[in-house]
Amino acid sequence: MAVDEAGQKKRVPHGLWTKCPKCEQIIYNKELEKNLKVCPTCHYNLRSTARERIAQIFDEGTFVEFAENLTAADPLGFHDSDSYVNRVKESRKKTGEKEAALAGVGKILGQSVVSAVLDFGFMGGSMGSVVGEKVTLAVERALTDTLPVLVVSSSGGARMQEGILSLFQMAKTSAALGRLEKARLPFISLVADPTTGGVTASFAMLGDVIVAEPKALIAFAGPRVIEQTIRQTLPQGFQQSEFLLKHGMVDMVVDRPLLRQRLADLFAFFLAARTSAA
Ligand SMILES: [Zn+2]
Repeated sequence: MAVDEAGQKKRVPHGLWTKCPKCEQIIYNKELEKNLKVCPTCHYNLRSTARERIAQIFDEGTFVEFAENLTAADPLGFHDSDSYVNRVKESRKKTGEKEAALAGVGKILGQSVVSAVLDFGFMGGSMGSVVGEKVTLAVERALTDTLPVLVVSSSGGARMQEGILSLFQMAKTSAALGRLEKARLPFISLVADPTTGGVTASFAMLGDVIVAEPKALIAFAGPRVIEQTIRQTLPQGFQQSEFLLKHGMVDMVVDRPLLRQRLADLFAFFLAARTSAA
């Protein structure tokens, strides 16, 4: 808080600046937004909300949401230091979203694409029944309307407050994607920072093409857990996009400003191959 000449404390307005978590550069928020939330100094692709991602990827005004009123049940009556019901309520207030994923149909450079986009800001983007259902509904819509699928992941994994029902989503989403593959409809998985746990272990790694954002952490168990388990220091950059690209876990690392065009090119390629094979 700044102090002016009269010794009065002057409030610095919140939300004007953001500090890049990688290089610690202070960036003016308007500039950051114009730059698709990419740091102008170190090129780190900053975390984005689901709605920001939709704006970054889809043609303006084309994204039409569906299943927007799905809400989580609390089948276990789960309670740790706070109740699950309260945690959901707080996340809703904080994000303005009903759940940790949005599903909808929109256009990417003119091509209609069905999509589910996870939001890390809502309970760590964790996959409970609603997130799993929205990803599944997106795939089912693609099957009905013969459209390609894009899922954008950024998630801490399964939502422990829903217990086994959250783990069940891994099988459900994977089975739906199996049906999509049989229909020869393309699925691109865009993996953003961070994607871990049950989301990595299911749909995020099932893309026909797996596209990662630069320097994203993509893992099943995080580096701290692995180091504690195997009692060894992990190599530099372990579990980051670039490391995973080198080791064949992801297919390409694409900087956000190039993303829309790259996704459009990939979908066009797969759809043309599908048509010519028919
Ligand atoms: Zn930076």
